[in-house]
Amino acid sequence: MRRRLFEDLHEDFRASFRTFLEREVVGEQGRYGEWERAGIVPREVFALAGRGGFLAMAAPERYGGVGAEDFRLNLVIGEEAQRAGVGSFGLGITLHNDICLPYFLIYCDERQRERWLPGIVSGELITAIAMTEPGMGSDLASMSTRARRDGDEYVVDGAKTFITNGINADLVITAVKTGTGGHENRHRDVSLVVIERGMEGFERGRNLEKVGQHAQDTAELSFSQGRVPIANLLGEEGEGFRYLVSNLPQERLSIAASAVAAAEAALEWTLHYVRERHAFGQPIGSFQASRFTLAELRGEVDIARAFIDRCVEALNAGELTPEDAASAKWWCTELQGRVADRCLQLFGGYGYMLEYPIARAWADARVTRIYGGANEIMKEIVGRSLGL
Ligand SMILES: Cc1cc2nc3c(=O)[nH]c(=O)nc-3n(C[C@H](O)[C@H](O)[C@H](O)COP(=O)(O)OP(=O)(O)OC[C@H]3O[C@@H](n4cnc5c(N)ncnc54)[C@H](O)[C@@H]3O)c2cc1C
Repeated sequence: MRRRLFEDLHEDFRASFRTFLEREVVGEQGRYGEWERAGIVPREVFALAGRGGFLAMAAPERYGGVGAEDFRLNLVIGEEAQRAGVGSFGLGITLHNDICLPYFLIYCDERQRERWLPGIVSGELITAIAMTEPGMGSDLASMSTRARRDGDEYVVDGAKTFITNGINADLVITAVKTGTGGHENRHRDVSLVVIERGMEGFERGRNLEKVGQHAQDTAELSFSQGRVPIANLLGEEGEGFRYLVSNLPQERLSIAASAVAAAEAALEWTLHYVRERHAFGQPIGSFQASRFTLAELRGEVDIARAFIDRCVEALNAGELTPEDAASAKWWCTELQGRVADRCLQLFGGYGYMLEYPIARAWADARVTRIYGGANEIMKEIVGRSLGL
């Protein structure tokens, strides 16, 4: 089905991002396999992406951006990265652009913008967001990392875990408790502070070993009497939970869109493979069982794509609801898992070999049902919106 979402400028952007991936990431010079083994993407990749215009496209021109508040550009990056078999979250760029950037654009004051946005656009400053703690993930308001005021600083104590870009990050948007629990509404105790590389009392723990998404650094962070200037508070004290909730629809749409792009890429690799591979004297794709499988997947991916395109339009128009984003996230990530699994089966034993992108895609897919809010929580959001 012909897509009506994109204009010429998006296709030009797609072509240049594709060239960037080919040149720097997956082509002959590309070192993605090396980064997967190392468990981290080198920082220079962010700087190269910045130079190519692929970071923080929504940042205003006075900070070095192009002021393009158009999520279709982010979508293009996600689609092309999946097509290239590296996964958009695999490079850390999508987290930087889709998930962290909005906090800097919306909640920073002018001095903070001047300090941070040029580096975020150029890739010299890599961002992360730290909400999850060893003792809690889904129940965010029960976090225990605390920031106590001391003069013009906060003193931060606590620990975060599973933080994407956790090793590379220079700026970590950190959710902390600044309240004392006296509010009727416990959400009012949460604030967001930006913790910078090198700040006293801030340490990084292990780069965690994961089932998939191996090139993505995912780390533990700890704060012990960490000293953070009050000038690093984002927005107002006590409003952090509200800021998180208002940015989560974009985060969830980003994950959902990447999931559909991953499913589409898996399907394309599989269609190619089943035409080439023969068994019992015929291409394996010509068995009715294979044809039915692939016909089902084609339909599911196309239907998901149409919903995602509609959600992107809604986001650009400022109309994407938390429920729609939650529906997109749970349904599309489950689709991604299903497609990766059924496609892998069609590759037979080769599907289990990591040198085949389908194997990596299968392992990379598993976490998308968990991060960005576990899918059970997504269904809670949708269920509550039904008045249940
Ligand atoms: C690779 C990776 C990258 C990540 N990146 C980041 C990051 O950059 N920043 C960050 O802050 N976090 C990050 N996370 C954390 C992620 O968001 C959490 O793992 C996720 O929100 C789930 O929290 P949890 O692991 O504590 O699980 P739990 O909250 O302990 O949940 C365990 C299970 O219980 C279920 N459950 C919990 N509550 C309910 C309920 N009310 N109803 C029904 N079922 C429920 C969950 O759905 C889940 O199946 C990342 C995680 C991974 C694995």
